[in-house]
Amino acid sequence: MTQLFSDVSRRGFLGSLVGGGAAALAGTAVSARAEKPSAEELQRAMERPILDVGSSTPPVVIESLDLLHHAPEFLVRARSRDGAEGVVVANASRLRETYPLFLRRVAPFFVGKDARHLEDHLRELYRHRSNYKLQGLAFWVCVAAAEMAILDLLGQVTRKSVGNLLGGVVRRDIPVYRASGNRGNRPEEEVDYLRQLVEETGAGAIKFRLGGRMSNNRDSLPGRSEALIPLVRETFGPDMTLYADSNSSYDVPHAVRLGRMMEEYEYGFFEEPCPFDHLWETKQVADELEIPVAGGEQEFSLRRFRWAIENRAVDVVQPDLHYFGGYLRCTRVARMAEAAGMPCTVHMSGSGLGYLHVVHFASYIPNPGPHQEFKGTNSIPMHCDTSSLQCENGVIRVPSGPGFGISIDPDYVARARRVTTL
Ligand SMILES: [Mg+2]
Repeated sequence: MTQLFSDVSRRGFLGSLVGGGAAALAGTAVSARAEKPSAEELQRAMERPILDVGSSTPPVVIESLDLLHHAPEFLVRARSRDGAEGVVVANASRLRETYPLFLRRVAPFFVGKDARHLEDHLRELYRHRSNYKLQGLAFWVCVAAAEMAILDLLGQVTRKSVGNLLGGVVRRDIPVYRASGNRGNRPEEEVDYLRQLVEETGAGAIKFRLGGRMSNNRDSLPGRSEALIPLVRETFGPDMTLYADSNSSYDVPHAVRLGRMMEEYEYGFFEEPCPFDHLWETKQVADELEIPVAGGEQEFSLRRFRWAIENRAVDVVQPDLHYFGGYLRCTRVARMAEAAGMPCTVHMSGSGLGYLHVVHFASYIPNPGPHQEFKGTNSIPMHCDTSSLQCENGVIRVPSGPGFGISIDPDYVARARRVTTL
């Protein structure tokens, strides 16, 4: 394992720490940066245009944007007046509650608009009917569902993959980390479970949970976190990259104490050490520790991400493609992080095709970090010519076909109910 912590500055050697070793950094472009970027640089990175549909693409006027329900999943179908169609799987775990916002606020806005100008439309949507007064995860998850369907539609029209619409694919084999969602089991049980996840996927990195989740320093079982940190390292050896996530469990002294243990056992990052919106405490922990601090899965403000990056409240930014409103907004976060020499490793929310969305994002941004989150596949019937869509030897291959590069079984889509009432 690479030499860590003692003779390097946290700011200057972040990239290899995140990977748990220099080898893990291969294929990423996270650069060390001595000077922090100015607010103006970050603002420019945030505002630069992203979407490239090509100058010869004729208008793609959106005829309909339908929400379909095939329990337990939600699909979104975008159709153009010329008969092109994009279909994506949305984030069912949140839309189940928030879909009225999609039906009332988001879908009608896009009908009749030219999809080629999606970036401009998304800016306007935020102002439209004072939607910004509803902003937060519940609104942005609906925007993400619409955005992804429109990107798939544009992909079908232009024959470009999502990555090629949003900057250009630079890698197709995406190493993943396998995340465990357990709490409350005994350390030995969790280690057995992690071993099973590694055997199933060949993942070279794993993440498990510390603390009690938003628990004001209480653990899910007394002493579980303190036991797991060394036990997981001892079980998987020095070459496994290890991450741990406390889901907002700790105050600063507790987080620093656990973080020091993670440093001793050479972990790659410490996710959400403090309450997720307590950026000031999170920054205190990040300043105190050598180990990188990760966060951002609940964040829904671009400007707060800018603040967190400018002030190094975290070292790894983790917007969620669904919770944060889609690819274009997450790309803006990635670009700001890039300007600061930081990785942007998106959070994978559960349900739907979250893993597919994550690997597409990692295919084109310059700074995804060494491993992307993977919580397993699901049973949505679909076909893909360019990828098995399975995790093989710790790697998922990104489809290269138009849009998201998959075909969802037409019978499955046809059997879905179109949601029109609240
Ligand atoms: Mg997390």
